[in-house]
Amino acid sequence: MHLNPYGEYAVLLAASLANDWPDDRRGIEARTREFGMTLAFSEGPDDHRDVRTVIDEWLGVVDADEPDERAQLLNAVMASAAAYPRMTDHDDEGWHLHYRDRNDALPHVLRAVISVGTALHLTTRGMHRLRRCEAGSAPGDPCRAVVVDVTRNGRQRFCSVRCANRAAVRRHRERTRSPGR
Ligand SMILES: [Zn+2]
Ligand SMILES: [Zn+2]
Repeated sequence: MHLNPYGEYAVLLAASLANDWPDDRRGIEARTREFGMTLAFSEGPDDHRDVRTVIDEWLGVVDADEPDERAQLLNAVMASAAAYPRMTDHDDEGWHLHYRDRNDALPHVLRAVISVGTALHLTTRGMHRLRRCEAGSAPGDPCRAVVVDVTRNGRQRFCSVRCANRAAVRRHRERTRSPGR
C-alpha cells in the first residue's frame, strides 16, 4: 500500500471500517482492496475480532479532542505496532515505504498502517481533521460516524448531506422557537 504524504487512504479505510463494520474477515479484506491495499495477508482464526480491537483503539484517537492527548495515544500505538520504515516493491506497486515489520497478519498490518496513516494525516492536514459527525452531538441524534476531513478548506463537520440537513433543520427550529426574537 502507498501511504501517500497525507496518509489519506489509510485513515479513510479506518473510518470506513468504523462506520460500516464488515460481518466477517472476508468483508474486511475486501475493504482493504477497495482502498488500494494489494498485500496478501496471512490468515488467523481471530482476525475479525482482532481488527475490531484495532478499530476501537483508533476510535479512542478520534474521540480524543485535545491534540496533545491525540498525539500521545497515537504515539503509543505506533510504538507497539509500527517499525522503522522499509523500502519495498511487492505486487508491482513500485517502490514505496512500509512502516512495519514482516508480520503479514491482517490485524497487525492494519494497526501499523492505520496508526502511521492517521499520524501523517493529522500532522500534514491538521490535528483537528478527524472527528465524529457533528449532527450526533445533538441530544438524541443517532449518528456516531467518523468524519475524516480531507477537504481543501478543512471545515467538514458532517458525515453526509443528510446529517448536515438534519442539523440545519434543527438549528432553524431552535431559532424560530427562541422567545423574543
Ligand atoms: Zn505496500
Ligand atoms: Zn452523520
